Amino acid sequence: MSIKDKVIIITGASSGIGEATAKLLAEKGAKVVLAARREENLKRITEEIKKNTGEAVYQVTDVTIPEENERLVSFAKQTYGKVDVIFLNAGIMPNSPLSALKVNEWNQMIDINIKGVLNGIAAVLPSFIEQKSGHVITTSSVAGLKAYPGGAVYGATKWAVRDFMEVLRMESAQEGTNIRTATIYPAAINTELLTTITDKETSEGMTGLYKQYGITPDRIASIVAYAIDQPEDVNVNEFTVGPTTQP
Ligand code: NDP
Repeated sequence: MSIKDKVIIITGASSGIGEATAKLLAEKGAKVVLAARREENLKRITEEIKKNTGEAVYQVTDVTIPEENERLVSFAKQTYGKVDVIFLNAGIMPNSPLSALKVNEWNQMIDINIKGVLNGIAAVLPSFIEQKSGHVITTSSVAGLKAYPGGAVYGATKWAVRDFMEVLRMESAQEGTNIRTATIYPAAINTELLTTITDKETSEGMTGLYKQYGITPDRIASIVAYAIDQPEDVNVNEFTVGPTTQP
């Protein structure tokens, strides 16, 4: 079974990479379930997909709240009868130097980028184990592979995702549950991500970098589609993807 008719939950689907992925997967015949906090955006994107003859529904979800992740998975199952793939993509990047002591933003990143992904895994794993199939895909970042000034906590959250995704892959193989995993490490992609930066200097620096190098989020969407489209006995484990011009 390729992408067509798969039921795919996408978090962070109200803009950027999540939006582009929802649109592409729906175009390829998937039934997509969009999740994020901004209902206006989710509604607009869902309507666009349907206009394009795609299958889509949405559920307003804050990934930091475990019950909302459970509700999301139940909603997908009630609507389409099952869940085949979950793309845990919601995230924020309020970068700043550690010395700026933006402790609230550190905690928000930990809550959304780490706990949000774990909440999604916890919500879907019982169904995947029961059906002995499923695919968990996450958006880490090149910041999860290489440290850089201003990205201490963001990078740490993305390293964390890398770690538990690799363990999920190993444990699923050991337990014989046939669950596939894929972790994507994007570099500069032009989305709304930089709007989460409140530190002026960091914001200016990152904006310059993205202006110079950034590529469009549909480039990541096609990577997600590639991972899903492989035969069920193939696990595409990791992708590092960025602009050709970015050093
Ligand atoms: P966007 O800001 O466009 O998208 C972020 C998405 O996350 C939005 O849909 C937002 O929706 C959602 N989100 C944030 N907080 C929550 C929450 N508490 N609950 C549910 N949804 C939430 O940026 P991107 O598309 O770039 O980001 C997607 C992922 O890609 C992130 O994990 C990011 O770290 C990662 N990434 C991005 C890169 C880039 O260069 N753009 C590079 C490397 C990784 P809403 O506000 O409506 O809730």
